[in-house]
Amino acid sequence: MAGSLFAHTHAMEIGTMTQAMQLHAQMIKTGKQDNFLDLNNLFTFSALSTSGDLTYARQVFNSIQTPNSYFWNTMIRGYAKSPEPDQALLLFLAMQLQEDAPNPDNYTFPFLLKSCTRLHRTREGRQLHAVIYKAGLQSDRFVQNSLIHMYSSCGESSFAMRVFEKMSDRNVVSWTSMIDGLVDDDRPVEALRMFARMEDDGVAPNDATVVSVLRACADVGAMGIGQKVHKMVEHREIASKANVCTALIDMYAKCGCIDSARRVFDTIVNKDVFAWTAMLSGLASHGRSKEAIDLFNELIEANLKPDVRTVTAVLSACRNAGWVTEGYHFFNDMEMKYGIRPTIQHYGCVVDLLARAGHLKDAEEFIKNMPVEPDAVLWRTLIWACRVYGDTERGERLTSHLQPLKTDSNDCGSYVLLGNVYALAGKWREKAKVRKLMNKQRLSKPPGTSRVEVNGVIHEFVAGDSSHPEAERIYRRLDEIAERLREEGHHPKVSEVLLDIEDEEKVTQLQHHSEKLAVAFGLINSSTGTPIRVVKNLRSCADCHSVMKLVSKIYQQEIVIRDRIRFHHFKNGQCSCGDYW
Ligand code: ZN
Ligand code: ZN
Repeated sequence: MAGSLFAHTHAMEIGTMTQAMQLHAQMIKTGKQDNFLDLNNLFTFSALSTSGDLTYARQVFNSIQTPNSYFWNTMIRGYAKSPEPDQALLLFLAMQLQEDAPNPDNYTFPFLLKSCTRLHRTREGRQLHAVIYKAGLQSDRFVQNSLIHMYSSCGESSFAMRVFEKMSDRNVVSWTSMIDGLVDDDRPVEALRMFARMEDDGVAPNDATVVSVLRACADVGAMGIGQKVHKMVEHREIASKANVCTALIDMYAKCGCIDSARRVFDTIVNKDVFAWTAMLSGLASHGRSKEAIDLFNELIEANLKPDVRTVTAVLSACRNAGWVTEGYHFFNDMEMKYGIRPTIQHYGCVVDLLARAGHLKDAEEFIKNMPVEPDAVLWRTLIWACRVYGDTERGERLTSHLQPLKTDSNDCGSYVLLGNVYALAGKWREKAKVRKLMNKQRLSKPPGTSRVEVNGVIHEFVAGDSSHPEAERIYRRLDEIAERLREEGHHPKVSEVLLDIEDEEKVTQLQHHSEKLAVAFGLINSSTGTPIRVVKNLRSCADCHSVMKLVSKIYQQEIVIRDRIRFHHFKNGQCSCGDYW
Protein backbone atom coordinates (compact mmCIF):
# COMPACT_ATOMS: atom_id res chain seq x y z
CA MET A 1 0.00 0.00 0.00
CA ALA A 2 2.62 2.50 1.12
CA GLY A 3 4.69 1.84 -1.98
CA SER A 4 1.94 2.91 -4.31
CA LEU A 5 1.13 5.91 -2.18
CA PHE A 6 3.27 8.55 -3.85
CA ALA A 7 2.83 7.27 -7.36
CA HIS A 8 -0.87 8.13 -7.42
CA THR A 9 -1.08 11.19 -5.23
CA HIS A 10 -3.79 12.85 -7.27
CA ALA A 11 -6.23 9.98 -7.30
CA MET A 12 -5.39 8.92 -3.79
CA GLU A 13 -8.06 8.31 -1.19
CA ILE A 14 -6.84 9.15 2.29
CA GLY A 15 -7.92 6.63 4.91
CA THR A 16 -5.67 7.32 7.89
CA MET A 17 -3.89 10.26 9.46
CA THR A 18 -0.54 8.59 8.69
CA GLN A 19 -1.38 8.65 4.97
CA ALA A 20 -2.46 12.28 5.23
CA MET A 21 0.79 13.29 6.95
CA GLN A 22 2.91 11.30 4.48
CA LEU A 23 1.21 13.07 1.61
CA HIS A 24 1.77 16.42 3.28
CA ALA A 25 5.47 15.71 3.84
CA GLN A 26 5.85 14.64 0.22
CA MET A 27 4.15 17.83 -0.98
CA ILE A 28 6.52 20.01 1.04
CA LYS A 29 9.56 17.97 -0.02
CA THR A 30 8.73 18.36 -3.70
CA GLY A 31 7.78 22.01 -3.30
CA LYS A 32 4.21 21.31 -4.31
CA GLN A 33 2.54 22.47 -1.09
CA ASP A 34 0.16 24.64 -3.10
CA ASN A 35 -1.26 21.71 -5.07
CA PHE A 36 -4.87 22.56 -4.38
CA LEU A 37 -6.35 19.11 -4.91
CA ASP A 38 -3.97 17.37 -2.53
CA LEU A 39 -4.12 20.08 0.07
CA ASN A 40 -7.87 20.05 -0.06
CA ASN A 41 -7.91 16.30 0.23
CA LEU A 42 -5.68 16.00 3.27
CA PHE A 43 -7.18 19.04 5.00
CA THR A 44 -10.75 17.78 4.62
CA PHE A 45 -9.74 14.38 5.93
CA SER A 46 -7.99 15.79 9.02
CA ALA A 47 -10.82 18.24 9.78
CA LEU A 48 -13.88 16.07 9.23
CA SER A 49 -13.08 12.38 9.35
CA THR A 50 -13.73 10.50 12.58
CA SER A 51 -10.15 9.26 12.37
CA GLY A 52 -8.89 12.75 11.51
CA ASP A 53 -6.94 15.19 13.65
CA LEU A 54 -8.30 18.68 14.20
CA THR A 55 -5.07 20.11 15.58
CA TYR A 56 -3.29 18.99 12.43
CA ALA A 57 -6.06 20.42 10.28
CA ARG A 58 -5.63 23.73 12.06
CA GLN A 59 -1.90 23.71 11.35
CA VAL A 60 -2.61 23.14 7.67
CA PHE A 61 -5.25 25.86 7.78
CA ASN A 62 -2.84 28.32 9.42
CA SER A 63 -0.21 27.57 6.78
CA ILE A 64 -2.52 28.67 3.96
CA GLN A 65 -1.98 32.32 3.21
CA THR A 66 -5.51 33.34 2.26
CA PRO A 67 -7.85 30.45 2.88
CA ASN A 68 -11.00 30.54 0.74
CA SER A 69 -14.48 30.03 2.16
CA TYR A 70 -14.26 26.26 1.72
CA PHE A 71 -11.31 26.14 4.11
CA TRP A 72 -12.95 28.47 6.64
CA ASN A 73 -16.23 26.57 6.54
CA THR A 74 -14.59 23.16 6.78
CA MET A 75 -12.49 24.25 9.75
CA ILE A 76 -15.57 25.69 11.48
CA ARG A 77 -17.53 22.56 10.66
CA GLY A 78 -14.79 20.37 12.11
CA TYR A 79 -14.87 22.31 15.38
CA ALA A 80 -18.68 22.33 15.48
CA LYS A 81 -18.80 18.56 15.69
CA SER A 82 -15.70 18.22 17.89
CA PRO A 83 -15.64 18.02 21.68
CA GLU A 84 -14.85 21.75 21.64
CA PRO A 85 -17.64 23.37 19.66
CA ASP A 86 -16.85 26.81 21.11
CA GLN A 87 -13.67 26.84 18.98
CA ALA A 88 -15.97 27.19 15.96
CA LEU A 89 -17.32 30.47 17.34
CA LEU A 90 -13.83 31.73 18.13
CA LEU A 91 -12.68 30.94 14.61
CA PHE A 92 -15.69 32.78 13.23
CA LEU A 93 -14.65 35.81 15.25
CA ALA A 94 -11.19 35.60 13.68
CA MET A 95 -12.85 35.34 10.28
CA GLN A 96 -14.82 38.51 10.97
CA LEU A 97 -11.73 40.40 12.11
CA GLN A 98 -9.44 39.34 9.29
CA GLU A 99 -9.60 41.81 6.46
CA ASP A 100 -8.91 39.51 3.55
CA ALA A 101 -11.19 36.73 4.83
CA PRO A 102 -14.19 35.81 2.66
CA ASN A 103 -17.71 36.72 3.74
CA PRO A 104 -19.56 34.05 5.69
CA ASP A 105 -22.11 32.21 3.52
CA ASN A 106 -25.04 29.83 3.85
CA TYR A 107 -22.66 27.01 4.86
CA THR A 108 -20.86 28.99 7.54
CA PHE A 109 -23.96 29.79 9.60
CA PRO A 110 -25.48 26.32 9.87
CA PHE A 111 -22.18 25.01 11.32
CA LEU A 112 -21.96 27.92 13.75
CA LEU A 113 -25.56 27.43 14.82
CA LYS A 114 -24.79 23.78 15.35
CA SER A 115 -22.08 24.81 17.83
CA CYS A 116 -24.56 27.02 19.68
CA THR A 117 -27.00 24.13 19.80
CA ARG A 118 -24.39 21.80 21.22
CA LEU A 119 -23.24 24.43 23.72
CA HIS A 120 -26.84 25.31 24.55
CA ARG A 121 -26.04 28.99 24.03
CA THR A 122 -28.99 30.97 22.76
CA ARG A 123 -27.36 34.33 23.44
CA GLU A 124 -24.65 33.65 20.86
CA GLY A 125 -27.27 32.04 18.66
CA ARG A 126 -29.33 35.22 18.69
CA GLN A 127 -26.28 37.33 17.89
CA LEU A 128 -25.62 35.08 14.92
CA HIS A 129 -29.24 35.51 13.89
CA ALA A 130 -28.56 39.25 13.66
CA VAL A 131 -25.38 38.67 11.64
CA ILE A 132 -27.41 36.43 9.30
CA TYR A 133 -29.75 39.34 8.62
CA LYS A 134 -26.76 41.59 7.95
CA ALA A 135 -25.41 39.03 5.51
CA GLY A 136 -28.82 38.87 3.80
CA LEU A 137 -29.16 35.14 4.37
CA GLN A 138 -32.34 35.21 6.45
CA SER A 139 -34.38 33.61 3.67
CA ASP A 140 -31.98 30.79 2.92
CA ARG A 141 -33.73 27.52 3.77
CA PHE A 142 -30.58 25.78 4.97
CA VAL A 143 -29.88 28.67 7.35
CA GLN A 144 -33.51 28.92 8.47
CA ASN A 145 -33.67 25.20 9.27
CA SER A 146 -30.52 25.55 11.35
CA LEU A 147 -32.01 28.50 13.24
CA ILE A 148 -35.19 26.55 13.99
CA HIS A 149 -33.16 23.60 15.20
CA MET A 150 -30.94 25.82 17.35
CA TYR A 151 -33.83 27.66 19.03
CA SER A 152 -35.84 24.46 19.46
CA SER A 153 -33.00 22.50 21.01
CA CYS A 154 -32.29 25.32 23.44
CA GLY A 155 -35.89 25.34 24.68
CA GLU A 156 -36.83 28.55 22.82
CA SER A 157 -39.58 27.11 20.68
CA SER A 158 -41.33 30.49 20.43
CA PHE A 159 -38.30 31.98 18.64
CA ALA A 160 -38.11 28.89 16.44
CA MET A 161 -41.77 29.40 15.59
CA ARG A 162 -41.11 32.98 14.49
CA VAL A 163 -38.45 31.85 12.04
CA PHE A 164 -40.66 28.97 10.91
CA GLU A 165 -43.69 31.15 10.20
CA LYS A 166 -41.59 33.49 8.05
CA MET A 167 -40.39 30.67 5.80
CA SER A 168 -41.79 30.56 2.30
CA ASP A 169 -40.37 27.21 1.34
CA ARG A 170 -40.49 24.62 4.10
CA ASN A 171 -39.15 21.11 3.64
CA VAL A 172 -39.46 18.03 5.83
CA VAL A 173 -36.43 19.16 7.89
CA SER A 174 -38.11 22.49 8.72
CA TRP A 175 -41.33 20.80 9.81
CA THR A 176 -39.56 18.12 11.78
CA SER A 177 -37.29 20.55 13.63
CA MET A 178 -40.33 22.61 14.59
CA ILE A 179 -42.41 19.61 15.73
CA ASP A 180 -39.47 18.19 17.65
CA GLY A 181 -38.82 21.54 19.30
CA LEU A 182 -42.41 21.80 20.49
CA VAL A 183 -42.32 18.28 21.92
CA ASP A 184 -39.06 19.05 23.73
CA ASP A 185 -40.55 22.25 25.06
CA ASP A 186 -43.44 20.29 26.56
CA ARG A 187 -45.96 21.62 24.05
CA PRO A 188 -47.16 18.31 22.58
CA VAL A 189 -50.65 19.51 21.65
CA GLU A 190 -49.17 22.26 19.47
CA ALA A 191 -46.72 19.73 18.02
CA LEU A 192 -49.65 17.59 16.88
CA ARG A 193 -51.38 20.62 15.39
CA MET A 194 -48.17 21.40 13.53
CA PHE A 195 -48.10 17.84 12.20
CA ALA A 196 -51.66 18.23 10.89
CA ARG A 197 -50.57 21.42 9.10
CA MET A 198 -47.62 19.57 7.60
CA GLU A 199 -49.94 16.89 6.24
CA ASP A 200 -52.21 19.57 4.77
CA ASP A 201 -49.15 21.01 3.10
CA GLY A 202 -48.51 17.67 1.43
CA VAL A 203 -45.04 17.17 2.94
CA ALA A 204 -44.24 13.49 3.54
CA PRO A 205 -42.80 12.75 6.99
CA ASN A 206 -39.47 10.96 7.40
CA ASP A 207 -38.49 8.71 10.27
CA ALA A 208 -37.38 11.62 12.45
CA THR A 209 -40.80 13.29 12.00
CA VAL A 210 -42.59 10.06 12.86
CA VAL A 211 -40.54 9.63 16.04
CA SER A 212 -41.30 13.19 17.18
CA VAL A 213 -45.01 12.90 16.42
CA LEU A 214 -45.22 9.58 18.27
CA ARG A 215 -43.51 11.20 21.25
CA ALA A 216 -46.16 13.92 21.21
CA CYS A 217 -48.91 11.28 21.02
CA ALA A 218 -47.34 9.47 23.97
CA ASP A 219 -47.22 12.70 25.98
CA VAL A 220 -50.87 13.59 25.51
CA GLY A 221 -52.19 10.04 25.26
CA ALA A 222 -53.44 10.66 21.73
CA MET A 223 -53.82 7.08 20.68
CA GLY A 224 -56.06 7.83 17.69
CA ILE A 225 -53.42 9.97 16.05
CA GLY A 226 -50.71 7.50 17.05
CA GLN A 227 -52.56 4.64 15.38
CA LYS A 228 -53.04 6.73 12.27
CA VAL A 229 -49.30 7.37 12.10
CA HIS A 230 -48.64 3.67 12.63
CA LYS A 231 -50.93 2.79 9.71
CA MET A 232 -49.28 5.46 7.59
CA VAL A 233 -45.78 4.02 8.04
CA GLU A 234 -46.73 0.36 8.21
CA HIS A 235 -45.97 -0.44 4.60
CA ARG A 236 -43.09 1.93 4.27
CA GLU A 237 -39.46 1.21 4.85
CA ILE A 238 -39.24 3.52 7.86
CA ALA A 239 -41.52 1.19 9.83
CA SER A 240 -38.60 -1.20 10.23
CA LYS A 241 -36.25 1.46 11.61
CA ALA A 242 -35.26 0.78 15.18
CA ASN A 243 -36.04 4.27 16.48
CA VAL A 244 -39.51 4.23 14.89
CA CYS A 245 -40.32 0.83 16.42
CA THR A 246 -39.19 1.99 19.85
CA ALA A 247 -41.30 5.14 19.52
CA LEU A 248 -44.32 3.01 18.55
CA ILE A 249 -43.86 0.76 21.58
CA ASP A 250 -43.56 3.78 23.83
CA MET A 251 -46.60 5.46 22.26
CA TYR A 252 -48.87 2.43 22.66
CA ALA A 253 -47.64 1.80 26.19
CA LYS A 254 -48.17 5.41 27.25
CA CYS A 255 -51.58 5.56 25.60
CA GLY A 256 -52.67 2.61 27.72
CA CYS A 257 -52.52 -0.12 25.07
CA ILE A 258 -49.77 -2.32 26.40
CA ASP A 259 -50.86 -5.29 24.26
CA SER A 260 -50.44 -3.29 21.05
CA ALA A 261 -47.01 -2.24 22.31
CA ARG A 262 -46.17 -5.91 22.81
CA ARG A 263 -47.30 -6.75 19.28
CA VAL A 264 -44.96 -4.15 17.82
CA PHE A 265 -42.16 -5.39 20.09
CA ASP A 266 -42.64 -8.99 19.00
CA THR A 267 -42.40 -8.13 15.30
CA ILE A 268 -38.94 -6.53 15.61
CA VAL A 269 -36.31 -8.90 14.27
CA ASN A 270 -33.19 -7.37 15.78
CA LYS A 271 -34.23 -5.69 18.98
CA ASP A 272 -31.80 -3.21 20.48
CA VAL A 273 -31.64 -2.34 24.16
CA PHE A 274 -33.86 0.76 23.60
CA ALA A 275 -36.74 -1.35 22.31
CA TRP A 276 -36.38 -3.73 25.25
CA THR A 277 -36.29 -0.82 27.68
CA ALA A 278 -39.38 0.84 26.17
CA MET A 279 -41.27 -2.44 26.48
CA LEU A 280 -40.05 -3.00 30.03
CA SER A 281 -41.01 0.50 31.16
CA GLY A 282 -44.42 0.03 29.57
CA LEU A 283 -45.04 -3.23 31.39
CA ALA A 284 -43.84 -1.69 34.65
CA SER A 285 -46.12 1.34 34.40
CA HIS A 286 -49.07 -0.93 33.62
CA GLY A 287 -48.40 -2.90 36.77
CA ARG A 288 -47.53 -6.03 34.78
CA SER A 289 -44.50 -6.54 36.99
CA LYS A 290 -44.19 -10.28 36.54
CA GLU A 291 -43.99 -9.94 32.75
CA ALA A 292 -41.51 -7.10 33.13
CA ILE A 293 -39.17 -9.22 35.23
CA ASP A 294 -39.52 -12.16 32.81
CA LEU A 295 -38.70 -9.87 29.92
CA PHE A 296 -35.66 -8.56 31.75
CA ASN A 297 -34.39 -12.12 32.20
CA GLU A 298 -34.93 -12.73 28.47
CA LEU A 299 -32.87 -9.66 27.71
CA ILE A 300 -30.02 -10.99 29.83
CA GLU A 301 -30.30 -14.40 28.12
CA ALA A 302 -30.14 -12.64 24.74
CA ASN A 303 -26.73 -11.36 25.85
CA LEU A 304 -27.72 -7.72 25.70
CA LYS A 305 -26.35 -5.24 28.19
CA PRO A 306 -29.01 -3.36 30.15
CA ASP A 307 -28.47 0.38 30.43
CA VAL A 308 -29.31 2.94 33.10
CA ARG A 309 -32.94 3.19 31.97
CA THR A 310 -33.46 -0.55 31.74
CA VAL A 311 -32.58 -0.88 35.40
CA THR A 312 -34.89 2.02 36.30
CA ALA A 313 -37.72 0.19 34.52
CA VAL A 314 -37.06 -3.04 36.41
CA LEU A 315 -36.88 -1.18 39.73
CA SER A 316 -40.16 0.59 39.05
CA ALA A 317 -41.76 -2.76 38.17
CA CYS A 318 -40.78 -3.96 41.64
CA ARG A 319 -41.93 -0.69 43.19
CA ASN A 320 -45.35 -0.83 41.54
CA ALA A 321 -45.84 -4.40 42.74
CA GLY A 322 -44.50 -3.71 46.22
CA TRP A 323 -41.76 -6.35 45.81
CA VAL A 324 -39.28 -5.07 48.33
CA THR A 325 -36.94 -8.09 48.35
CA GLU A 326 -36.78 -8.39 44.56
CA GLY A 327 -36.22 -4.67 44.18
CA TYR A 328 -33.31 -4.77 46.60
CA HIS A 329 -31.93 -7.74 44.73
CA PHE A 330 -31.93 -5.88 41.38
CA PHE A 331 -30.52 -2.78 42.99
CA ASN A 332 -27.58 -4.73 44.40
CA ASP A 333 -27.02 -6.48 41.07
CA MET A 334 -26.89 -3.36 38.97
CA GLU A 335 -23.38 -2.31 39.84
CA MET A 336 -21.92 -5.75 40.57
CA LYS A 337 -23.35 -7.63 37.61
CA TYR A 338 -24.08 -5.02 34.97
CA GLY A 339 -21.52 -2.39 35.86
CA ILE A 340 -24.06 0.40 36.12
CA ARG A 341 -23.41 2.93 38.85
CA PRO A 342 -26.71 3.86 40.54
CA THR A 343 -27.93 7.38 39.84
CA ILE A 344 -30.18 9.50 42.03
CA GLN A 345 -33.15 8.10 40.04
CA HIS A 346 -32.26 4.56 41.07
CA TYR A 347 -31.90 5.55 44.71
CA GLY A 348 -35.23 7.30 44.34
CA CYS A 349 -36.83 4.09 43.08
CA VAL A 350 -35.59 2.17 46.11
CA VAL A 351 -36.79 4.86 48.52
CA ASP A 352 -40.15 4.86 46.78
CA LEU A 353 -40.26 1.07 46.91
CA LEU A 354 -39.66 1.02 50.65
CA ALA A 355 -41.85 4.03 51.39
CA ARG A 356 -44.84 2.79 49.44
CA ALA A 357 -44.65 -0.58 51.09
CA GLY A 358 -44.81 1.25 54.42
CA HIS A 359 -41.20 0.59 55.47
CA LEU A 360 -40.84 4.21 56.46
CA LYS A 361 -38.01 3.74 58.94
CA ASP A 362 -35.95 1.66 56.45
CA ALA A 363 -36.53 4.25 53.77
CA GLU A 364 -35.26 7.00 56.07
CA GLU A 365 -32.19 4.93 56.96
CA PHE A 366 -31.56 4.21 53.28
CA ILE A 367 -31.58 7.91 52.43
CA LYS A 368 -29.20 8.69 55.27
CA ASN A 369 -26.72 6.04 54.10
CA MET A 370 -26.77 6.93 50.43
CA PRO A 371 -23.41 7.92 48.96
CA VAL A 372 -25.04 10.74 46.99
CA GLU A 373 -26.77 13.87 48.23
CA PRO A 374 -30.55 13.27 48.42
CA ASP A 375 -32.62 15.71 46.36
CA ALA A 376 -35.99 17.26 47.10
CA VAL A 377 -37.82 14.59 45.12
CA LEU A 378 -36.49 11.87 47.41
CA TRP A 379 -37.56 13.60 50.59
CA ARG A 380 -40.93 14.39 49.10
CA THR A 381 -41.45 10.73 48.18
CA LEU A 382 -40.86 9.69 51.76
CA ILE A 383 -42.88 12.52 53.29
CA TRP A 384 -45.74 11.70 50.95
CA ALA A 385 -45.64 8.10 52.21
CA CYS A 386 -45.66 9.34 55.81
CA ARG A 387 -48.85 11.18 54.92
CA VAL A 388 -50.41 8.09 53.35
CA TYR A 389 -49.50 5.86 56.31
CA GLY A 390 -50.56 8.53 58.80
CA ASP A 391 -47.08 8.88 60.35
CA THR A 392 -47.45 12.64 60.79
CA GLU A 393 -44.73 12.78 63.43
CA ARG A 394 -42.06 11.44 61.07
CA GLY A 395 -43.51 13.43 58.20
CA GLU A 396 -43.28 16.66 60.10
CA ARG A 397 -39.77 15.93 61.33
CA LEU A 398 -38.61 15.17 57.78
CA THR A 399 -40.04 18.39 56.41
CA SER A 400 -37.01 20.07 57.99
CA HIS A 401 -35.07 18.68 55.02
CA LEU A 402 -37.26 20.73 52.74
CA GLN A 403 -36.43 23.96 54.56
CA PRO A 404 -33.10 24.66 52.86
CA LEU A 405 -34.92 24.34 49.61
CA LYS A 406 -36.72 27.57 50.30
CA THR A 407 -33.99 29.36 48.45
CA ASP A 408 -34.87 27.32 45.38
CA SER A 409 -37.67 29.48 44.14
CA ASN A 410 -38.90 26.95 41.62
CA ASP A 411 -39.46 24.21 44.11
CA CYS A 412 -43.19 24.60 44.37
CA GLY A 413 -43.71 20.89 45.08
CA SER A 414 -41.90 21.10 48.41
CA TYR A 415 -44.05 23.99 49.59
CA VAL A 416 -47.23 22.17 48.63
CA LEU A 417 -46.11 19.06 50.41
CA LEU A 418 -45.03 21.01 53.48
CA GLY A 419 -48.47 22.61 53.47
CA ASN A 420 -50.12 19.21 53.18
CA VAL A 421 -48.20 17.77 56.09
CA TYR A 422 -49.18 20.71 58.31
CA ALA A 423 -52.77 20.43 57.17
CA LEU A 424 -52.92 16.75 58.03
CA ALA A 425 -51.53 17.47 61.46
CA GLY A 426 -54.20 20.15 61.84
CA LYS A 427 -51.57 22.89 62.07
CA TRP A 428 -53.45 25.48 60.06
CA ARG A 429 -51.33 28.37 61.30
CA GLU A 430 -48.13 26.79 59.94
CA LYS A 431 -49.91 25.91 56.74
CA ALA A 432 -51.04 29.51 56.30
CA LYS A 433 -47.41 30.59 56.75
CA VAL A 434 -46.32 28.29 53.94
CA ARG A 435 -49.03 29.65 51.70
CA LYS A 436 -47.94 33.20 52.46
CA LEU A 437 -44.35 32.33 51.60
CA MET A 438 -45.50 30.85 48.34
CA ASN A 439 -47.47 33.96 47.51
CA LYS A 440 -44.51 36.12 48.36
CA GLN A 441 -42.37 34.19 45.92
CA ARG A 442 -45.23 34.09 43.44
CA LEU A 443 -45.38 30.32 43.43
CA SER A 444 -48.60 28.59 42.65
CA LYS A 445 -49.46 24.95 42.76
CA PRO A 446 -49.65 23.50 39.26
CA PRO A 447 -53.32 22.78 38.65
CA GLY A 448 -54.50 19.22 38.15
CA THR A 449 -54.91 18.77 34.42
CA SER A 450 -56.43 15.85 32.54
CA ARG A 451 -56.57 15.20 28.83
CA VAL A 452 -58.93 12.93 26.99
CA GLU A 453 -59.00 12.17 23.28
CA VAL A 454 -62.45 12.07 21.69
CA ASN A 455 -62.72 11.41 17.96
CA GLY A 456 -59.13 12.39 17.29
CA VAL A 457 -59.36 15.69 19.19
CA ILE A 458 -57.62 16.31 22.50
CA HIS A 459 -59.74 17.95 25.20
CA GLU A 460 -58.02 19.35 28.23
CA PHE A 461 -59.61 19.92 31.62
CA VAL A 462 -58.32 21.76 34.66
CA ALA A 463 -59.84 21.13 38.11
CA GLY A 464 -63.03 23.17 38.52
CA ASP A 465 -62.80 24.16 34.85
CA SER A 466 -65.86 25.61 33.13
CA SER A 467 -64.18 26.83 29.96
CA HIS A 468 -65.10 23.81 27.85
CA PRO A 469 -67.89 24.55 25.31
CA GLU A 470 -69.85 21.61 26.71
CA ALA A 471 -69.20 22.51 30.34
CA GLU A 472 -72.90 22.65 31.23
CA ARG A 473 -73.58 19.13 30.00
CA ILE A 474 -70.45 17.87 31.72
CA TYR A 475 -71.44 19.30 35.11
CA ARG A 476 -74.97 17.95 34.74
CA ARG A 477 -73.52 14.52 34.01
CA LEU A 478 -71.24 14.84 37.07
CA ASP A 479 -74.24 15.57 39.31
CA GLU A 480 -76.00 12.56 37.90
CA ILE A 481 -72.92 10.39 38.50
CA ALA A 482 -72.69 11.67 42.08
CA GLU A 483 -76.32 10.68 42.62
CA ARG A 484 -75.74 7.14 41.30
CA LEU A 485 -72.61 6.84 43.46
CA ARG A 486 -74.56 7.84 46.58
CA GLU A 487 -77.09 5.12 45.82
CA GLU A 488 -74.20 2.66 45.70
CA GLY A 489 -73.14 3.84 49.15
CA HIS A 490 -70.11 5.92 48.16
CA HIS A 491 -68.96 8.58 50.61
CA PRO A 492 -66.70 11.31 49.21
CA LYS A 493 -63.26 11.13 50.86
CA VAL A 494 -63.18 14.68 52.17
CA SER A 495 -59.86 14.04 53.96
CA GLU A 496 -58.24 14.31 50.51
CA VAL A 497 -59.01 18.00 50.45
CA LEU A 498 -56.40 19.81 52.45
CA LEU A 499 -57.89 23.24 52.47
CA ASP A 500 -59.33 24.70 55.61
CA ILE A 501 -62.91 24.89 54.27
CA GLU A 502 -66.38 23.55 55.07
CA ASP A 503 -67.07 19.87 54.35
CA GLU A 504 -69.76 20.70 51.83
CA GLU A 505 -67.34 22.80 49.81
CA LYS A 506 -64.80 19.99 50.02
CA VAL A 507 -67.32 17.61 48.42
CA THR A 508 -67.84 20.01 45.53
CA GLN A 509 -64.10 20.45 45.07
CA LEU A 510 -63.55 16.72 44.98
CA GLN A 511 -66.34 16.23 42.51
CA HIS A 512 -64.70 18.66 40.11
CA HIS A 513 -61.22 17.12 39.99
CA SER A 514 -59.90 17.24 36.44
CA GLU A 515 -59.99 13.50 35.74
CA LYS A 516 -63.65 13.40 36.77
CA LEU A 517 -64.45 16.17 34.29
CA ALA A 518 -62.55 14.30 31.58
CA VAL A 519 -64.32 11.01 32.31
CA ALA A 520 -67.76 12.68 32.39
CA PHE A 521 -67.00 14.20 29.01
CA GLY A 522 -65.80 10.82 27.79
CA LEU A 523 -69.03 9.20 29.00
CA ILE A 524 -71.13 11.75 27.11
CA ASN A 525 -69.24 11.05 23.89
CA SER A 526 -68.18 7.45 24.23
CA SER A 527 -69.22 4.83 21.78
CA THR A 528 -69.85 1.54 23.55
CA GLY A 529 -66.93 -0.79 23.80
CA THR A 530 -64.11 1.76 23.57
CA PRO A 531 -62.32 2.54 26.80
CA ILE A 532 -62.08 6.16 27.94
CA ARG A 533 -58.39 7.05 28.10
CA VAL A 534 -57.31 9.91 30.35
CA VAL A 535 -53.84 11.31 30.96
CA LYS A 536 -53.38 13.23 34.18
CA ASN A 537 -50.38 15.38 35.15
CA LEU A 538 -50.50 14.61 38.87
CA ARG A 539 -51.10 11.57 41.01
CA SER A 540 -54.76 10.58 41.39
CA CYS A 541 -56.36 11.15 44.76
CA ALA A 542 -58.02 8.36 46.72
CA ASP A 543 -61.50 9.74 46.04
CA CYS A 544 -61.05 9.84 42.28
CA HIS A 545 -59.66 6.32 42.41
CA SER A 546 -62.65 4.84 44.18
CA VAL A 547 -65.09 6.86 42.06
CA MET A 548 -63.51 5.51 38.86
CA LYS A 549 -63.83 1.97 40.12
CA LEU A 550 -67.55 2.46 40.78
CA VAL A 551 -68.17 4.27 37.50
CA SER A 552 -66.54 1.43 35.57
CA LYS A 553 -69.04 -0.93 37.20
CA ILE A 554 -72.22 1.18 37.13
CA TYR A 555 -71.80 2.38 33.54
CA GLN A 556 -70.06 -0.77 32.31
CA GLN A 557 -67.39 1.49 30.93
CA GLU A 558 -63.71 0.65 30.82
CA ILE A 559 -61.57 3.61 31.97
CA VAL A 560 -57.80 3.87 31.60
CA ILE A 561 -56.07 6.63 33.54
CA ARG A 562 -52.40 7.41 33.32
CA ASP A 563 -51.28 9.52 36.24
CA ARG A 564 -47.82 10.87 36.94
CA ILE A 565 -46.61 7.51 38.16
CA ARG A 566 -48.48 4.70 36.44
CA PHE A 567 -51.57 3.35 34.71
CA HIS A 568 -54.89 2.42 36.25
CA HIS A 569 -57.20 0.20 34.21
CA PHE A 570 -60.67 0.37 35.74
CA LYS A 571 -63.05 -2.42 34.76
CA ASN A 572 -66.11 -3.89 36.50
CA GLY A 573 -65.40 -2.07 39.74
CA GLN A 574 -61.74 -3.15 39.96
CA CYS A 575 -58.47 -1.41 39.24
CA SER A 576 -55.43 -3.10 37.75
CA CYS A 577 -53.21 -1.58 40.43
CA GLY A 578 -55.02 -3.56 43.09
CA ASP A 579 -55.36 -0.28 45.03
CA TYR A 580 -51.61 -0.14 45.51
CA TRP A 581 -50.30 3.07 44.06
ZN1 ZN B 1 -59.18 13.45 42.76
ZN1 ZN C 1 -55.59 2.03 40.39
